[in-house]
Amino acid sequence: EIKLAQRVKALTPSTTLAITAKAAELKSLGHDVIGLGAGEPDFNTPQHIIDAAVQSMNEGYTKYTPSAGLPALKKAIQEKFMKDQGIEYKPNEIIVVNGAKHALFTLFQVLLDEGDEVIIPTPYWVSYPEQVKLAGGVPVYIEGQEINDYKITPEQLNLAVTEKTRAVIINSPSNPTGMIYSKEELEAIGNVCLERNILIVSDEIYEKLIYGENKHISIAEISPQLKEQTIIINGVSKSHAMTGWRIGYAAGNKDVITAMTNLASHSTSNPTTTAQYGTIAAYNGTEETVEQMRRAFEERLNIIYEQLIYIEGFSCIKPQGAFYLFPNVKKAAELTGFKTVDQFVEGLLEDAKVAVIPGSGFGASENIRLSYATSLDTLEEAIKRIKEFIGTRK
Ligand code: PLP
Repeated sequence: EIKLAQRVKALTPSTTLAITAKAAELKSLGHDVIGLGAGEPDFNTPQHIIDAAVQSMNEGYTKYTPSAGLPALKKAIQEKFMKDQGIEYKPNEIIVVNGAKHALFTLFQVLLDEGDEVIIPTPYWVSYPEQVKLAGGVPVYIEGQEINDYKITPEQLNLAVTEKTRAVIINSPSNPTGMIYSKEELEAIGNVCLERNILIVSDEIYEKLIYGENKHISIAEISPQLKEQTIIINGVSKSHAMTGWRIGYAAGNKDVITAMTNLASHSTSNPTTTAQYGTIAAYNGTEETVEQMRRAFEERLNIIYEQLIYIEGFSCIKPQGAFYLFPNVKKAAELTGFKTVDQFVEGLLEDAKVAVIPGSGFGASENIRLSYATSLDTLEEAIKRIKEFIGTRK
């Protein structure tokens, strides 16, 4: 047996994996399984982005680039921040890496010493705690309560800060809840961060997927002080349906970005050159395709939400962004004779052949996550099956 490092032994495998593996197994046995686990848009990358990437290769741009990304891409990102947030970053305050996930990973590596704490609001995106732990840090959870739309309050944050706290993660719009923080809420949270001198890691990967009257606000755009205190994480995976291209970036304090660049120079060298050219086209080209995808998600949300809330034992706040629904299904689990929501999820897959993700992996054991990054027909069939499942079992 090969001895593995302590730090990977402590890694919790992705909780979404178990259910996805089981769904795949059932499918291979010929069952008609509906998967609502997807964490990526079901659209293809817009054609003008693909064309630009292909063209760059044909023109011979197939070599290494600077570690922190092509100057032309940084410029496109600078302009994006100016246009969307009205904030200015210098080129040495931006690093392009292999996806937003990798931006977060690199950030925690350069920020944390052994025992440093990072405050993670629950429900959280599954990779935050593992990434913090891999960097030697300690995740400290505070509960975004259902009555507060799964968001944390400044009071809760203030209570959780210790002398070891380095940062708090804010993910708005949120995966898995779809909720967004208002300007006032961010301002109040930001004030605590300034007073207690902790950094804000603002994961804005779902920025472009906002519905109804809601608006995305970055905590960094509220004041120059908050901009100084914040590292923004973003990317094109969700906005431009580019999950496989692996391009994300971080923007903020130049010393942090320099450290991240040094680390990248010894690990990945640079994000894939072709993907960087595609991303330049994504940011410099039309936003119409981004808006078309947003509208499609919104249409599905509006239809499916109305059906979901009438499922017996489900209670769900209407999401304001991203592409997930995160109902509390504790009552439905009880009604159908399951002790836990995890078991309800297993039963749903086995009997109704609908795969959803249990909330336990996101630090919310009464909920399930359903992705609506799939066709309306599929979603409606899934709702029908869930209703039948509950109806026959109760
Ligand atoms: N942050 C959140 C909240 C996400 O949901 C995801 C993807 O699922 C990411 C970051 C990672 O995005 P990327 O594909 O750019 O690595």
